[in-house]
Amino acid sequence: MSQNDNLFKKIMRGEIPSAKVYEDDDVYAFKDIAPAAPTHILIIPKAPLDSLNELTDNDAAVAGKLLVTAAKLAKELGFADTGYRCVINTGAQAGQTVPHLHLHLLAGRDLQWPPG
Ligand code: AMP
Repeated sequence: MSQNDNLFKKIMRGEIPSAKVYEDDDVYAFKDIAPAAPTHILIIPKAPLDSLNELTDNDAAVAGKLLVTAAKLAKELGFADTGYRCVINTGAQAGQTVPHLHLHLLAGRDLQWPPG
């Protein structure tokens, strides 16, 4: 686990403003500042995990919580039936720019496959 500071930790501490969508003891969810779809929410663990690469069996509950939160928000925000996509970019080649694990929740338009 990393203790390094980064943008998303500052957002969770309220040092950088964010449009919060959901929060509980394990996760924080907020609107992406540069939305790639009409709905674009980032769901992050409060635990200091840099990326999927850091996950061990001990992190199974919090990793699952990211998906459970995505499914809950999809129902609450009304796009569970129309469809949505969950993306976790990991590492430079996948386009990860913030070194704190985050799940992108995208909805509200036809999403192309394969992604760019
Ligand atoms: P990734 O490229 O997978 O690391 O995703 C990082 C995401 O963070 C991008 O979609 C950015 O638009 C988003 N982002 C960067 N800064 C902020 C911010 N201050 N508030 C909300 N989202 C941000």
